[in-house]
Amino acid sequence: MSDESTLRELLAAHDIPCDACRYNLRGQTGDKCPECGRPIKVERVRGVVEARAWRQRRMPGDRLVMAGLVGSLLGLGYAAGAVGTLVRVMMSGLATPIRLVLECTLWPLVIAYPLLAWMYLTRTSWIERRSRGGKLALAIVAWSLAPVDVLFVLAPLFLLVR
Ligand SMILES: [Zn+2]
Repeated sequence: MSDESTLRELLAAHDIPCDACRYNLRGQTGDKCPECGRPIKVERVRGVVEARAWRQRRMPGDRLVMAGLVGSLLGLGYAAGAVGTLVRVMMSGLATPIRLVLECTLWPLVIAYPLLAWMYLTRTSWIERRSRGGKLALAIVAWSLAPVDVLFVLAPLFLLVR
């Protein structure tokens, strides 16, 4: 297909703003912006369309799924912190029972958050096909693993240790 007909086809199907004046070039058949006269480049138009399609594949349309994705990505930071704490705990002279409790609470987070984030990023359409309740449950898990852990397990434990 020639660049010219590719360009026409892309502009027929997509809202593409002009680089210079942001005029919507949808449906244009010429190779210049009718508003400001800037040449319309097929590579540039193709780039915009592809970037948009990529975003749509990655970004879930569903708000619950989106919320879960954000929660799981934020959780990655917590998981990284948990790894650091784990290393310190394992190297510290803490009494064995306390150490065991800490290890048992931190390990699941270290594993769960990367797993959740991976699931949200690569199995998005599978998650989107779950029921509303299922999506909500998953989103709650993604947001609450770390806070629940800190509030109910780690905080009392640290108070005890002090
Ligand atoms: Zn223009």
